[in-house]
Amino acid sequence: MKDLKSYIRTIPDFPSEGIMFRDITTLFGNPAALKHTIDLLFGHFRNDRVQVVAGVEARGFVLGGALACRLGAGFVPIRKAGKLPHQTIEESYQLEYGEATLEMHLDAFGAGDRVLLIDDLIATGGTADAAMNLIDHLGGDVVGAGFVVDLPALGGAEKLRSRCDKVVSLVS
Ligand code: AMP
Repeated sequence: MKDLKSYIRTIPDFPSEGIMFRDITTLFGNPAALKHTIDLLFGHFRNDRVQVVAGVEARGFVLGGALACRLGAGFVPIRKAGKLPHQTIEESYQLEYGEATLEMHLDAFGAGDRVLLIDDLIATGGTADAAMNLIDHLGGDVVGAGFVVDLPALGGAEKLRSRCDKVVSLVS
């Protein structure tokens, strides 16, 4: 298996000038790389008795759904504003590029449930922080957070470690 990094392509100036977009659709499209990614995440969280994987739209759905299946956990979507059909709670946050709002269903899981947060990439950590706030709001017990890519220069993973003991990324 080649380094996972080699399956991720970089698109300069997307979605705006100065952003180096780390595109993992190329990793998703490769059967061996996708399987290896899920295997690695599974290895990190297999003993954490995860009950619910919360995945952030949209690439967190692909990873989170596959990982939930491997862990024998349920899957909960954390979506951009206006997409979820039932009653929601919401959190606004800053992105590396712009501002956004995340929503989760009010009845997504029960208080005390063991929740694992999954997204493709952590940059400034604003998205993960907002997602954690949503999970906290429902009384979830966050067992960890997993990402394929960490952009350490932006400090998000380091910041997230102050509120979550187990922050895992596969590629830096
Ligand atoms: P942040 O909130 O700054 O940690 O940004 C993380 C979220 O934005 C993730 O959902 C990523 O998919 C997306 N994102 C931010 N920066 C990038 C980047 N340079 N390349 C790809 N996705 C990014």
